[in-house]
Amino acid sequence: MADICPNHHPEAAALLDYATGKAAQATSVLVATHLALCPACRADVRRFEALGGALVDAEPPAVLANGALAAVLARLDAGDDEEDQPQGETADAETIRLIPQPLRAYLGTGIDSLAWKIRGIGVREAVLDFGDPSVRTSLVRIAPGVKILSHTHDAIETTMVLKGAFNDVTGRYARGDVATATSELDHTPTAEADEECICLIIVEGNLRFTGRLTRLLNPLMRF
Ligand SMILES: [Zn+2]
Repeated sequence: MADICPNHHPEAAALLDYATGKAAQATSVLVATHLALCPACRADVRRFEALGGALVDAEPPAVLANGALAAVLARLDAGDDEEDQPQGETADAETIRLIPQPLRAYLGTGIDSLAWKIRGIGVREAVLDFGDPSVRTSLVRIAPGVKILSHTHDAIETTMVLKGAFNDVTGRYARGDVATATSELDHTPTAEADEECICLIIVEGNLRFTGRLTRLLNPLMRF
């Protein structure tokens, strides 16, 4: 899949956790999906992996945190990157074009075959199961020009754009870009008018909608 040089990247801590095998599975898939499109972050991860290897060579294992040595070794054993993931053979041409392989392997089907649920006017969500109830992972399709309700976060929301683009107070996010929203940010992502926007979103913790009326929707809409 061709590199597109995204403008917004995962935070360095997320890349480091990925390189050392400490990232949660959903985060690992998001990072690997970004890496499939981002040569700059691939280079960073290679440096982190080399650093992990140097630590293994230079220090007794006891200085590494619990499990870190095993995690580093597992990453090194696993080879270079995402190409080792299983193939998503059943995907259609549009899914193969839009969804980089690390995520495609977890979908196991074409994007149009996922269990899309309506989450508002022009917004649909397909929840992905990564076996971790504390993290909500989903694909979200936002119709052209549609605005997501203003919300803040009790925890962290990480969004990667797969198709189209959205804008919020922090900037413009297009294919390959990753946005990390923390508890201070009250934002209203809006899909650009010319194309639907598809994003992979990971939410750790709950979102709180901040409008007077939309607050009532909180139990129903969590992204
Ligand atoms: Zn990047």
